[in-house]
Formats: sequence, structure tokens, C-alpha cells
Amino acid sequence: MIFETLWQAGEPVHSGRVLAVEFLNDGKRHQAIWFNEADAGQGGYFDAEGKTLKKAFLKSPLQFSRITSGFAMRSHPISGMWKQHKGIDFAAPVGTPIRATGDGHIEFTGSHGGYGNMVVIQHSGSYSTAYAHMSHIASGIKRGARIAQGDVIGYVGTSGWSTGPHLHYEFRVNDAARDPNSIVVQQTQSLAGTALQQFHRQVADIKHRFRLLSAEVTQLAAR
Ligand SMILES: [Zn+2]
Repeated sequence: MIFETLWQAGEPVHSGRVLAVEFLNDGKRHQAIWFNEADAGQGGYFDAEGKTLKKAFLKSPLQFSRITSGFAMRSHPISGMWKQHKGIDFAAPVGTPIRATGDGHIEFTGSHGGYGNMVVIQHSGSYSTAYAHMSHIASGIKRGARIAQGDVIGYVGTSGWSTGPHLHYEFRVNDAARDPNSIVVQQTQSLAGTALQQFHRQVADIKHRFRLLSAEVTQLAAR
């Protein structure tokens, strides 16, 4: 692992960002390299070929929760009607922060019938995600606002047609709710052009450092 160390007056103060990691498992080499394209603002981790390691969508909008109702046929808890549940329900206590599962911008925020307090995020391509039954929406979440993956957009509640505190999460393609586990989302952008050239130079340096490190480890092991 290669990471930053921050120094002050000749003393290491604390460790900073992880710049590169190499992990050998079952003879397979896994690498992650931090890269921040010049004047791009936001960096990320990539493999040695320059393919982003960031997933387009998080698996869950809540950090700790359990799924109480998946995307399947069920008898509706309030109406008793047998119909498709067009989303995934995550049980969690009132006030649990809800995270945006992908980058995008806010398309809807407010109260919306049975959904209660809801936020809808429009992502790139034809994808959008909806988060319903919130106790309240996070401050600064306004229509048109830009959102990054992991940003807190609201808090779990039981507003609208809900029988108890939970998050109803919908993954939509062209505004139609779909089972997120059945959708293969195309990977987010890989590096190209001058950014890729810049990245390759950085990777060459990192690989050189890893070689030096493993030589050192081999020497220590031989002692
Ligand atoms: Zn639901």
C-alpha cells in the first residue's frame, strides 16, 4: 500500500489518502490507484488500465438495514390487493440517513401521495432513483441540485401509505420501476485521451514503487 503522510516541522502528523493498493489473492493481482485528473476537481480509484473502480450505483441507500420486501408479487400491506411491489423496502429506525445511490441531480422533492415525503434523483442515461416515506428531506435538497453518490438526501420515516418506519426505494429505467438486481448498468466512464496518458505515467511510477517494496519485503523475509 502507498499512502500520503502529512508532515509538519519535520514530524509526521497524520496519514492521508491511500494512493495505491496491490493485493494478491489466489495468484490474482488486484490493484487500485488514486487518480485526480488535472482540473477535473474530483478524483477516484482506477485499475491499472484506467477503468474506474467506482460502481455506478450503490447496492443500498442505507448503510445498515435489512430488506423486508423485495421486487416481487405480494399482497399489499394496506389494501390487501395482490400486486407487484415496484421497489425494495429497507427496514430502519426513523431518522436513519438515506444516501443517494448514484451521481445525478434532484428531479423531485416534496410530498407525493402514498409515497409521502419523497426525493427522485435523475442519473445519467435513462436511470432515476426514488426514495419514499421519509420523515424529512435533508436541507439543501432542492429541485435541480447536483448530488454525488453517498450524499445524504433525507431520513427514514413512515410518511404516506406506510405501516412502519422503512425506506421504499425504486430503481427506474425510463421512469418505470425495475428490479435493480436484474439490470446491468453500463459502467461509469473510463479514462481516455490526455487523462489516460497522464494516468499511465502515474501507474508506471506506482509500479516502480511496488517493485521496490516487494524487493524489500523479500529481503526482510530472507533474513
Ligand atoms: Zn415499498
